[in-house]
Amino acid sequence: MASVSAPQVYRTEAIILRHQRYGEAGRLVTIFSPNHGKLRVLARGALRPTSHLAGHLEPLTKVVLLLARARGFDLVTQAETLESHGAIRSTLWRMSSAFYAAELVDRMSQDNIESFPIYRLLQRFLAWLEEAKEPDVPVRFFELQLLGVSGYRPELRSCAECGAPLEPVLNGLSGPAGGCLCPACALKSRDVRPISVNALKVLRVLQLGDRDLAGRLRLDAPLARELDQLMRYYMPHAVDHDLRTTGFVDAVRATRPTGNHAGTTAPVTLDAQPDGQLPVEAAAP
Ligand SMILES: [Zn+2]
Repeated sequence: MASVSAPQVYRTEAIILRHQRYGEAGRLVTIFSPNHGKLRVLARGALRPTSHLAGHLEPLTKVVLLLARARGFDLVTQAETLESHGAIRSTLWRMSSAFYAAELVDRMSQDNIESFPIYRLLQRFLAWLEEAKEPDVPVRFFELQLLGVSGYRPELRSCAECGAPLEPVLNGLSGPAGGCLCPACALKSRDVRPISVNALKVLRVLQLGDRDLAGRLRLDAPLARELDQLMRYYMPHAVDHDLRTTGFVDAVRATRPTGNHAGTTAPVTLDAQPDGQLPVEAAAP
């Protein structure tokens, strides 16, 4: 008896990273799931007015999908929104920050490689962004943690070239070297940016991965700007591409809130932290 096996169907939670048009009315959707990592799945007919799928497949949405295995892309047969992240969509700086994070995850992940830490990181980042008063600390935290769980943890303790412990002086940050350089090695390097003592200190705190501690960081405007420029330089080395959304981030820069973070908890006194040998001037809230 000839057996025709039914299409194999599976259910997964996922965060939508992006989508693109596919054929006449289809949508090719890039998702990140807890158990299958990054997947590209096809929502046939999603652009037809009668389709009930499209509304659930917008970027940043957390969904449950029912997928049918297919020869090419697996097919979306059902979609249900778990979290639409409306608070992110309603603010341009939140949205640009979230799209940037989604692009980082997309660029730094390969299809079908399970990584629950990345999924959890993205999910927690989006939740944080919904209530955040400013983008700098959440975005920097996300970058440092994503580098870590993706295997690109930058060296922030000792020189990435000679191994000497970094002193509390002006050091270098090098994309090709994968972290900081001591002044002597920085002088010999062609691809390096200066990193201040305070900026290095903040990156070290963020690298600890303690969300509550990071949430109490207060960055004054020059320090926030320095960190932004440093990570804008550094991240493409890990991603190995220019990032499309940094242009978008630039465009909405004027819309971000000014000044320091509003907050109800006391700011972190950084010289009291575990790696407290380098003091950071914490701005008053
Ligand atoms: Zn060195």
